[in-house]
Amino acid sequence: MPNAKKVVILKIDDYDVAVLKAKIKAAIDKYFPLANYFQAGDKVLLKPNLLMPAKPDDAVTTHPAIAEAVGSIFKDAGFPVVIADSPGGFIDSQDMAYIYNECGYGEPAKRYGFELLNPERSVLREGIPLCWWADGSFKIINLPKLKTHELTILTLAVKNLYGCISGLHKSQLHINYPQPKNFVEILLKLNGMVKPSLNIIDGILAMEGAGPSKKGTPRKLNVIILSDNALYADFAVGRLLNIKDDAHPLIKAAKERGMLDEKELEIISDAGNFPLARDFVLPSPSILNNIPGGAVNILKAILKFYPRINFEKCVSCGACGTVCPKKAITTIKGKAVIDYKECISCLCCAEMCRFAAIDLKKSFLVRIILLLQMFSKSIVTGLAGLWRRKDARDKIQK
Ligand code: SF4
Ligand code: SF4
Repeated sequence: MPNAKKVVILKIDDYDVAVLKAKIKAAIDKYFPLANYFQAGDKVLLKPNLLMPAKPDDAVTTHPAIAEAVGSIFKDAGFPVVIADSPGGFIDSQDMAYIYNECGYGEPAKRYGFELLNPERSVLREGIPLCWWADGSFKIINLPKLKTHELTILTLAVKNLYGCISGLHKSQLHINYPQPKNFVEILLKLNGMVKPSLNIIDGILAMEGAGPSKKGTPRKLNVIILSDNALYADFAVGRLLNIKDDAHPLIKAAKERGMLDEKELEIISDAGNFPLARDFVLPSPSILNNIPGGAVNILKAILKFYPRINFEKCVSCGACGTVCPKKAITTIKGKAVIDYKECISCLCCAEMCRFAAIDLKKSFLVRIILLLQMFSKSIVTGLAGLWRRKDARDKIQK
C-alpha cells in the first residue's frame, strides 16, 4: 500500500526491560528504521504520561521500564536522551523531582544518564503556550499510557501531547474548549505542531473504567503499540478494543476532517485475534458520544456529569483548586467545596486528585440511560449464552 500508515502491535506480557528493549528494537529496525527519522546531532526527548505522582502499578502513568528500554535503544544508537512531561496544575522543579521519583523514573535516569527536564518556561506557538522543550529543539518520542479518560473517552498518543502545554495553561484551554468535540480540536492542532517522530503506547497494564487517574481500574492488555503516526496509532487502538469511531471524539473529529482513512491503516500485529478486549470498560460519559446527530446538543444540556467531592477521602491538599480553570473550588472548614454555578464540568479536578476523592455525579437521566444500557447488555449476553448452549446441544445430537 503506497500511503499505508503502519501501526505495529506487539504482545508483551510484562515490564521486563530486556524483553521490552529486544522486541521494541526489532520492530523499530524492521518498520521504522532510525535512519529514516533521525540524523547525527539530534537530541531525543522521551515524553511519557506522568499525570501525577503515582506508582507504576496504579496504571496512571507510563511504566518507567518502557522509558528505560526505549531510552537505552536511542542511547546505544548514539543520541543524547532526556525525559520530560508537564503534569496538571502548577508544578515547580521540586514537585517535578517528586513526580519523577514516585513514578519510578529517578533510578533509570541515573543509571543511563537521562536528564530529567522541568516544564518551567513556555514558548507561544500558534497561540498555544508550549513547554520550552516542545518547541522543536528535540526529536520527540511519545510514550503514552493506554487509559480511559472521563472527558475524551480514551487518552492515547494524541492526547498525551496535551502534556506539552505548559502548566496551568492547560486549565485555561479547558475554558476555551469546554466540550469534548471542541477540546479534541486543540489536540489535533497540537499533533500537527509537535509531530512526534515515534509513538510507543504502553498498553501492557492499561486502565479501564473511570480513568485517567486513580479512580480508573488497571487492566492487563499485554500490548505495546508503535507507529510514526500518533493519530493512526490511536485509530488502531479503537480496532484493538472494539470501540466505535463515533464513540471516540478525537477519531470522529479526525475522520470528519479527512485526516484518517480506513484504507490507509495497516495494522501489523502479533497479539492474536482482534478485538483483543470486547469487554473493555469505557467511562460513563461515553454514552454521550453514542447519541446520534442533532439530538446530542439538546440532550447534552440535561445529560450532565458533575464532579462531587467525597469528604471521607478528601485530605484538603488543594490540588483540585489549583487546577480548576474557573476557580470554582475553595476550601471551607478544611474541605474542598465546588461552586456549581461556575463549574464547566471539565473534570480537571477529578483528573488531578491523587486521593480518588472526586466522584462523577450523574444526572437522573444519565443514571436511567446507564441502567438501560446495562440491562440491554445482560439480555444480549443471556440470549447469546442460550444460543451457544442450543448450538452445542444440536451438535452433540447430530
Ligand atoms: S478533593 Fe482531592 S485534590 Fe481536592 S483537596 Fe480533596 S484530596 Fe485534594
Ligand atoms: S470544579 Fe472541576 S469540573 Fe468544575 S470547572 Fe473546576 S476543575 Fe472543572
